[in-house]
Amino acid sequence: MHATNTLAEADRLMTLCNSCRYCEGLCAVFPAMEMRREFLDGDLNYLANLCHSCGACYADCQFSPPHEFNVNVPKVMAQARSESYEAYAWPQALAPMFRQNGLKISIVAAVSVAVFIAGFVAWRDPAVLFGTHAGNFYRLMPHNTMVAIFGGAFLYAIFAMAMGVRAFWKDIGEPAKTFTEGPSLWQAMKDASSLRYLDGGGVGCMNESERPTDNRRIYHHFTFYGFMLCFASTSVATIYHYGFGWQAPYPVFSLPVILGTIGGIGLLIGPVGLLIAKSHRDPAMMDTSRTGMDVAFLVMLFLTSLTGLALLILRDTAAMGMLLAIHLGVVFALFVTMPYGKFVHGIYRFLALVRYAKEKRMLEEGEAGTA
Ligand code: SF4
Ligand code: SF4
Repeated sequence: MHATNTLAEADRLMTLCNSCRYCEGLCAVFPAMEMRREFLDGDLNYLANLCHSCGACYADCQFSPPHEFNVNVPKVMAQARSESYEAYAWPQALAPMFRQNGLKISIVAAVSVAVFIAGFVAWRDPAVLFGTHAGNFYRLMPHNTMVAIFGGAFLYAIFAMAMGVRAFWKDIGEPAKTFTEGPSLWQAMKDASSLRYLDGGGVGCMNESERPTDNRRIYHHFTFYGFMLCFASTSVATIYHYGFGWQAPYPVFSLPVILGTIGGIGLLIGPVGLLIAKSHRDPAMMDTSRTGMDVAFLVMLFLTSLTGLALLILRDTAAMGMLLAIHLGVVFALFVTMPYGKFVHGIYRFLALVRYAKEKRMLEEGEAGTA
């Protein structure tokens, strides 16, 4: 018995694939499946999060629809994955956000915060909101207030996602000490940073036209590394502020601005590329009920970058006040919706890769021991 119909269907497919094994060279899912004879809910959630949705096994399968066996691994894994995000969400009361229109929620949150900041500043002194301040953001909002509000939102997101990680790890039956296994973590980092299993077994992702391309992997890289560079920019600026007492605004050729600009450009190109790539995918192998969740996250990343870069370019003009309010509104909305949207896929997929690296290593060591 499984907790949901989706997991029951995933069990049926994995049992069938385990007899066939035609796709074992395509990705990590099939070798991980072959290490099992039966599939508990935790195993299926692990396999679902290990799947990168490249679509190769759907295109290659002789039993995919219209065959009566109706084998559609990418779609069922995508559905199981989405349902697992809800099952692991903290607090559970907010889990339905994964199914709701995430973009609408994010935009409403962003606009509300932006209007509140702009209104508050204008109420105290309109000249501050519409004045020029040589890029000094703290004329509108003191640094400590900014840190308290946005640091609080960020810490909330980290805590909520950490609770999700705990639930996932428990569900798949992994002990906490796996996190201390250097070789597994290192292998997972290499696989995640290169998106090794998004290559459809070497040919690329399958699309509507059944012509594989590497577009999704390329735009994922722009998005992921763009995000990491923006994060690095904020971290360096924090060290400058608290470690050296160097206050923003930083010069154009300073490290925080260079990192933020390159990262920001990546976060413009990546999300747009992924949205276009998504529109070319075959809907038959996707979980179309969760498209809103994917789109919301990509749009919010794009808007964060767009408003951040606009703020950098226009920071010496009278537009800075309004742009800062809008940018902060978007960043706040991004942070508070992060644990209930597509962002979590990167975390669970990385954890699944850690477990796979460990299982693979143990299998190889076992085989070497019996040889
Ligand atoms: S997806 Fe189809 S071809 Fe691939 S292992 Fe499963 S049953 Fe076999
Ligand atoms: S869709 Fe791609 S990653 Fe997912 S199981 Fe099939 S081949 Fe593996």
